[in-house]
Amino acid sequence: MRVVMKFGGTSVGGADNIRRVVSVIKGSLEDGIEPVVVVSAMAGVTDTLERAAEEAPSWSEEEIKSYVGKLRHLHVETVENLISSSIVAREVLGTIESLLDELEKVLIGLSYVGEVTPRSRDLVLSFGERLSAPIVSGALRDVGIDSEPLEGGEAGVVTDDRFGEAEPIMPECQRRARRVLEPMLNAGKVPVVTGFIGRTLDGDVTTLGRGGSDYSAAILGAALGVDEVQIWTDVDGIMTANPKLVPDARTVERLSYEEAMELASFGAEVLHPKTVIPVREPGIPVRVKNTFNPDAPGTLITSTADRAEHVVKAVASSSDVGVVDLRGITMIGRPGIAGRVFSRLGDEGINVIMISQSASESNISIIVSEDDAEKAAKALEREFVGEGVLESVEFTTDASVVAVVGEGMRGTPGVAARVFDAVSRRGVNVKTISQGASELNISFVVAEEDEKDAVRAVHDEFELGGS
Ligand code: ASP
Ligand code: MG
Repeated sequence: MRVVMKFGGTSVGGADNIRRVVSVIKGSLEDGIEPVVVVSAMAGVTDTLERAAEEAPSWSEEEIKSYVGKLRHLHVETVENLISSSIVAREVLGTIESLLDELEKVLIGLSYVGEVTPRSRDLVLSFGERLSAPIVSGALRDVGIDSEPLEGGEAGVVTDDRFGEAEPIMPECQRRARRVLEPMLNAGKVPVVTGFIGRTLDGDVTTLGRGGSDYSAAILGAALGVDEVQIWTDVDGIMTANPKLVPDARTVERLSYEEAMELASFGAEVLHPKTVIPVREPGIPVRVKNTFNPDAPGTLITSTADRAEHVVKAVASSSDVGVVDLRGITMIGRPGIAGRVFSRLGDEGINVIMISQSASESNISIIVSEDDAEKAAKALEREFVGEGVLESVEFTTDASVVAVVGEGMRGTPGVAARVFDAVSRRGVNVKTISQGASELNISFVVAEEDEKDAVRAVHDEFELGGS
């Protein structure tokens, strides 16, 4: 049985944690599994690289050296606390040194050029995973497991050149993954592949978007046609609600691909929403597991919608959204306004999370990420200025979106009524409602301060909590 095992930033976030990762991989090998390991950068590292990419143009050489020094300290310390064989340690430390040397040159280059392009930004961001993979691979060799670190592109993540949000070219991925990884697996070697990053056909480093290591795992899993993709993280699985908001939230045992995608898109941070895309068609199961509690069953995601005893499976929510309201649209019945809204926002690179139009057609609400709200409002103001179509464009970031998800809602009457009854009984005002055509998701917007009450109301109403 072949399995892609992806370990997130916390799982590889230090020597003790990597030891747990090694023991999980060892356990799989003992069970006869042939693993392809995919790793994130050590926790927090990509955040600092993102800042470095942004600020390097204004940094002095001293500041660059001091930043690189901090990264060196973190990674070298981890190797020293983790790897006991001096031969393996020396090899890994050598790799780290040459990577940091390269990073320093890249950052100094940026400070000379004075600007960062999407391409050079991706190059900077790639160093987190390129530093962590050799460490995890070295830790495996240290306990006698044959292993080799690989960069995403090398291993088969071949992408287009949309830097920052690259997409795989699947036939190429398949060719390369099979050519490179198959022989390793056949020889009993454990490849440790950098998540998050790929390469274009021209050889430029790309990234798949923040949190994209899950996506890497799914791409490689689909390319190789593995039996399962495992996402090893620091919680037991996908939960019925954010446990910080709902103390009796519990792990959901089974989800369909669609349910998982909806939950991931609406704030369940355990899984990158794109993870499902490559594996859905070939029907490769995805299992979310906890590195720090490996005996817990986790969440299994497959094509079978298990309607179970609950029509509603989970309630996701996010306060990381903003609402842009287009008010007083006077050209009632005038077609094409919503279309222009979408294309304008698309041109600006703004992702629309949700859109809702009131029946009177005089208002349109657009939900975007919090960081995009102001930009979206300005762009739409400019789009329609002087046409006399709109009265005003307003935006607020004081908003949360709550998404109620479950395949069982499809064709079950009265679910929406129960949702909004429960929410209004708590005195929460619902601002905007949207139901996807798939009917497996009802989402609505509330004031940020009401998020917790709204989520709890729905969670209680559908008895999703642990007993
Ligand atoms: N290291 C990347 C990030 O922090 C990718 C990942 O961890 O999934 O976004
Ligand atoms: Mg993640």
